Order: sequence, then C-alpha cells, then structure tokens
Amino acid sequence: MSARPGVVYLVGAGPGDPGLITLRALELVEAADVVLHDRLISPVVLRAARSDAELIDVGKRPGAEATAQREIERLMIERARAGRSVVRLKGGDPFTFGRGGEEAEALAGAEISFEVVPGVTAGVAAPAYAGIPVTHRGDASAVAFITGHEDPDKLESAIDWEALAAFPGTLVIYMGVKRLPEIAEHLVAAGRGADEPAAAVERGTMSSQRTVSAPLGELAAVADGAGLRPPAIVVVGPVAARKDAIGWLERRPLHGRRIVVTRARAQASGLARTLVNLGADVIELPAIRIEPRIDSDPVRRAVDDIYSYALVCLTSPNGVRLLFEAMAESGRDSRALASATVAAIGPGTAAALREHGVIADVVPEESVAEALVESLSEVEVEGRPVLVARAAEARDVLPEALRERGAEVDEVALYETVAEQVDEEAIEAAREADYVTFTSSSTVRNLIGAVGARFPPRARVVSIGPITSTAAREEGLEVHVEAEHHDVDGVVEALLADARSR
Ligand code: SAH
Repeated sequence: MSARPGVVYLVGAGPGDPGLITLRALELVEAADVVLHDRLISPVVLRAARSDAELIDVGKRPGAEATAQREIERLMIERARAGRSVVRLKGGDPFTFGRGGEEAEALAGAEISFEVVPGVTAGVAAPAYAGIPVTHRGDASAVAFITGHEDPDKLESAIDWEALAAFPGTLVIYMGVKRLPEIAEHLVAAGRGADEPAAAVERGTMSSQRTVSAPLGELAAVADGAGLRPPAIVVVGPVAARKDAIGWLERRPLHGRRIVVTRARAQASGLARTLVNLGADVIELPAIRIEPRIDSDPVRRAVDDIYSYALVCLTSPNGVRLLFEAMAESGRDSRALASATVAAIGPGTAAALREHGVIADVVPEESVAEALVESLSEVEVEGRPVLVARAAEARDVLPEALRERGAEVDEVALYETVAEQVDEEAIEAAREADYVTFTSSSTVRNLIGAVGARFPPRARVVSIGPITSTAAREEGLEVHVEAEHHDVDGVVEALLADARSR
C-alpha cells in the first residue's frame, strides 16, 4: 500500500448495454484496486476488473437494503486514504439522479482527489433504444429530466406539476413506474393533454427491454396490465409516437428470447455475441472448462516427430489451437505439417486451421467422427504413422477405424474437458430461459450434473448435432431442435428458424 492518498473516480457505467460504457470508464475499471458498484451493472463490465480487485456491491438487492449512502461515502474515503484507486461505478450518468453530486461533495469535504466520468444516461438511452428521439425538429425542441420518486421525508410534492405540464417539450421521467398513475393524473389535471403520446421503456438498452406506449391518460393502466416494473423511463410528448417508425431493438429476430449458452467461457463469446447481436438475452452458463494438457510427454513426443506423420487428424478448434501452441513452444510452426495430409473433423476445425495458414485436405460436412472416418477412406494409411490429436475424453471411433485399416496411430490428448463451477445467480436467471444450447456432449453431461432438477422448465433444447442429441436424450432431455450444420453457425441458423416459427 502506498503512502500517497488514492483517487476516487465517480464513473458512469451507462444504462445497461455494456457496449455503452465509455473508454475512460472501462480503462478505470480495469486499473482499479476497489470497485464500489450499484446493482444492475452489467457483469461484462465487472469482469473487466482485475482479478485481485476488491468488488463491493452496494446496490439494493431484492429483499435487502441497499448500503446506506453514508456508508458508501465512508468506504470510498477510507479506501482512498489507504492509497487505493477507487472506482465508484454507477448506473447511467453519475450526476443524473445518481447521488453522484453528494458523493463528490463528501470527497471534496474529506480532501480526497476525485474525477468524474459522465455516462450515457437512461433518460436518453432507453428512449433511443426504443426508437424515441427525445428531441425532434418537428416535435420537441426542449427536454426535461424529472424524478418521479420523491423523498418520502418531504411533506409536500416537490414537483411543480403546473410548470411541467406547461413545459414546451418532452418530459423524461426517471423512477416513475410505481407512481405512474399519480404522475399522469397530475400532469393531465395541470393541463397536459390526456391524448398526448407517451411510452414507458422497461430495462432500456438491455436484451430484455420492453416498451409499452399509450396516450398519457391511459399509460398507467396499460403499463400495469403489462406488468411493467422498474427500472423504466417514462416519456411524455409527441416524440413518443415516433417509435412506431423508428423502433429497432425490439424488432430484432431473437429479441426477448432468453438463451442459455453452455460452452466453455473461452469459446462461448463467439456464439454469445452472435446471439446478442440478433437481440437475444444471453445467459452464459459455462458447464465446462478446457484444461490444456500440452505439458505432457506424449504431446512433446508427437510434436518432436510432427514431420514424420503421413496424416494428422484434428477434432476440434481447441485441439487446433493447442497443437499450434505446443508446436510453437518447441519452435515449430505450420511448415512442420507441410508433408502431412491434414484432416479436420468439420468446418469449425477447418476454420481454426486456416487461421494458422493451413488449409485442411479432408473436411467432412458433418462434424462427427463417423463422417471423418468415411471422408478418410481415400487416404492411404496402411503401415503409415498417423496422429490423432484431440480431447482426453474423446470417443475411440476414429483411432479404431484407422488402426483397422493398418495405420500406426498415435493418440494424444491435448486437453481435458472438466466441469466448471456454475454460478448460482446464472442458474436462477436460466430458469426462465426459452432455449438452452448444447454444442457438445460434455456440455450436456456437465450442465445436467450442475443444475440437476433445476433445468429450465420451459426451455427448448437446441443441439449442435446427433452425438450431442444422443447425450441429451441419455440425460432425460427432449431435443427440440438439432442443427443441420454441426457448427456454431448451424446452431444459430437452427435457432433462428425455430424462433421464427413460434
Ligand atoms: N444515474 C442513472 C439514473 C439513476 S435513477 C442514469 O443516469 O441513468 C434510477 C432510475 O433510472 C430508474 O428508476 C429508472 O427510471 C432509470 N433507469 C436506469 N436504468 C434504466 C434502464 N436500463 N432502463 C430504463 N430506465 C432506467
């Protein structure tokens, strides 16, 4: 710990979509010793913190109290005095209904250095993601940000309804869901038109975003009927009607669908990102983790002799990545495979090879061992050395078939797939899932091992191919969708088709 006092950064994390955090905010989160964060900060942003950083959740949990404001201020000051770099990470913008002003005053009073990093505020972002511009040349040349939640200690209303009703522009109301009936009533009583367009955007910018719209006089009843809950932004003004033409997020093909991705975290990001871009609410529930095993004698021997193999078979993108890692460690690169026939089990593995400058000679269309065996029927293997580089727990179909044809097969395990500790909160979130995707038998077995009877009851099961489907049925699951192409794109394609039909 340094003797120099630390700095506190009052940082806006944006409204929910992790992509809306600023570069400065991310840089500070990555460097922080301590992160004091609100609830509802995206886990994507929190994962950017150093693994040894102290993360303190000071937000309100369901059924529990939020950390008192005074306690938050005390924590910030204490950690900063101990020389730590403290990020106070707040939803949206720290100075917009975020009590950031009070926190800055407390820091100034304690003579702690601080910096303020503005964030994208929900009052602008949630309407934007709903297709509502808060100003518009035709409709509104001013916008007012209003809190609908009043300090319960205040005896009288602090809001000047007459002035707001007369305000010549858009009204954007934060924290207004619970009191929506009174807010609308007051505005109409003070002269705002009951037929004026209005909307409420729940969980704005998130994949679970939902917008309800109705004339001001009816919005409270419509929102109530739809079960709208905080956090939501209420917009009152003619701009609210523009959503019909401009709305975009809620039109994406997988919008509102909760989809569980069970791949290992390191691999999941590609699939997860694709699904998010299609509008899905993705829950990452990595059931497995890839443990490299390249630090072993068999692997070292295979790599030393890599030049001598007539045929090299790779059965997953992980296998490709780790074989090249093992080769690099002993000073070799793709040229070591120059004289071998290279076989990939499917298009995903072939793509991984291409990244290393190797075009696979043999690629079956279906990524299953049986298909690879068939595709290899033209390759002469009798009496020749063959390398099958793969996972420790892989099936024996391929090496056995090659041995039957007289090949001298070296099987080496480049990695092992082990069960990943699954996050309780993610399991709970997954309970409401519409889809669970499985991209290998090991994801099936390990997920069932981890969640057991808590498997999402309504979810449709999407499998990458027949082997995975069999594993799922063996675990008692019904497989609703099986990809035609046995790779990640095939899973996405199958999922889209199923979602479209339902
Ligand atoms: N400092 C925050 C606001 C904090 S007050 C900001 O600048 O956005 C909390 C209120 O913000 C909620 O009650 C809700 O009205 C609004 N809010 C925050 N995040 C939201 C979101 N993702 N969608 C809709 N409203 C949101």
